[in-house]
Amino acid sequence: MLRISAVSKTYPNGVRALQGIDLTIERGLFGLLGPNGAGKSTLMRILATLQTPDAGQLTFDGADVLADPRGHRRRLGYLPQDFGVYPGVSASELLDHLGVLKGLTDRRARREQVDALLQQTNLYAHRKKAVSGFSGGMRQRFGIAQALLGNPRMLIVDEPTAGLDPEERNRFHNLLSEVGENVVVLLSTHIVEDVRQLCPRMAILSGGRVLREGAPETLVAEL
Ligand code: ADP
Ligand code: ADP
Repeated sequence: MLRISAVSKTYPNGVRALQGIDLTIERGLFGLLGPNGAGKSTLMRILATLQTPDAGQLTFDGADVLADPRGHRRRLGYLPQDFGVYPGVSASELLDHLGVLKGLTDRRARREQVDALLQQTNLYAHRKKAVSGFSGGMRQRFGIAQALLGNPRMLIVDEPTAGLDPEERNRFHNLLSEVGENVVVLLSTHIVEDVRQLCPRMAILSGGRVLREGAPETLVAEL
């Protein structure tokens, strides 16, 4: 369980990106819906320990995230909005390399996990191709594969379906649903259909505040 309490963040230029966020996320897929500038990415980066809040507390499964960011990172997978890939490096090479960076030192176990993740994300047939040449949908599925390296207990996925066509979005939704059965997934999006189709629980973020929290069928109807 992830508990976010009174989290605030003001940027040096004075932009108050988050103003006292309180959220409790128990399991499965949780959707964070909000327009551009709502503060979604800032919250995601804070949860990924890439930024620190000015105030507030974060606990995950009872552990204090801000007191032990390295410990938190070991339990976390992150797909950033601007996930970059190196030109020319194949999917299996890149996953293997990212696995090393994640601390998966046993080469054989790492390769087994890489193959399993490539299968799970339907990329195994493309494992020898360069990720930089992948379509948008393939890239995002690869992004999920890299985020799942090391079996994290929580996945943070920032605007993953932006720019995907309907078929790719569908495939991506199926993958996320499957992943959400075992892992807490926090999905940020400005696309209502993403949360409606995927998330039993959601929050609407606007101007750095939680406007509403609940089930999509109730909240989306009010929009
Ligand atoms: P989003 O689609 O999440 O709104 P933006 O286009 O606002 O993303 O931001 C893209 C990148 O630029 C992010 O890494 C963000 O931190 C940074 N950024 C956004 N707004 C500002 C700003 N006013 N000053 C400096 N950096 C910014
Ligand atoms: P979202 O992901 O919902 O689009 P962001 O968290 O990217 O929202 O941005 C929230 C607000 O903070 C926006 O006004 C944005 O311009 C501003 N912002 C984001 N990153 C930075 C940054 N690095 N420096 C200054 N302002 C930023």
